[in-house]
Amino acid sequence: MSSQKIFLLDFDGVIVDGMHEYWHSSLLACEKYLNSPYISVDQKLYKKVPNTFKEIRPWVKYGWEMVIIVHEIIKTENPIKTHNKGDFINNYHQNCQRVLKDNSWIAEDLQKILDKSRKYQIDKNFKTWVNLHNPFFEVLNFMEELRKKEIKTVIITTKGKIFAEKILKELNIFPEFIFGYESGTKIKIAEKLTKAYEILGFIEDRKKTLINIKQNRETSHIPCFLADWGYLKKSDRYNLSNEIKLLKLSNLKESVAI
Ligand SMILES: [Mg+2]
Repeated sequence: MSSQKIFLLDFDGVIVDGMHEYWHSSLLACEKYLNSPYISVDQKLYKKVPNTFKEIRPWVKYGWEMVIIVHEIIKTENPIKTHNKGDFINNYHQNCQRVLKDNSWIAEDLQKILDKSRKYQIDKNFKTWVNLHNPFFEVLNFMEELRKKEIKTVIITTKGKIFAEKILKELNIFPEFIFGYESGTKIKIAEKLTKAYEILGFIEDRKKTLINIKQNRETSHIPCFLADWGYLKKSDRYNLSNEIKLLKLSNLKESVAI
């Protein structure tokens, strides 16, 4: 088989640490576009990412969930704080659905206002927005290594494609493809790619996504790597099946062994 070799990478938590950006953009979305009677946004909130937000972030799958988390953290009555965050996390998915229902919101609309908040910042001051992201330089070097070996990189993210693309361009990275949430689930994207390419690996910081890749007949042959430097839940590092390798930033190249 002489098909083109490719390597898959997630974006958030793998190529960049965007924690400041997630907080900032979701907070701005709450302030400017959400019209919730339960919050009032103090400008001081923009200065520091609360630990509660950082601690809940590993549970996030889609961007719109971050708008909900920020709303629940900043609301004036019964906000989520350190002492009660466990209640939210323990039933994370159901809690997100409950907040949607209680406020008569729909997920797609929250995603739209998050995207709108990002567009607003990009139009206002692109550099300031880009600087809210911190790249993992070891990963950028690894991607450069792949390029030298003529292995193409493909980014699969649950963020809007346009935003990932803008940041990557700033970092001087031009992947073969970027797939955002608009392209469907990661598993479906990987399935399609396996038909045309030889996939040498997938680095992702959401364990559940890698488990799904391994359990799917079409994609189970893809070598899967869990990014130790990403937004991991404490429990993610334990009970890893031997099909999924925990990858450390310090010995990325050696561990992937391309
Ligand atoms: Mg990620």
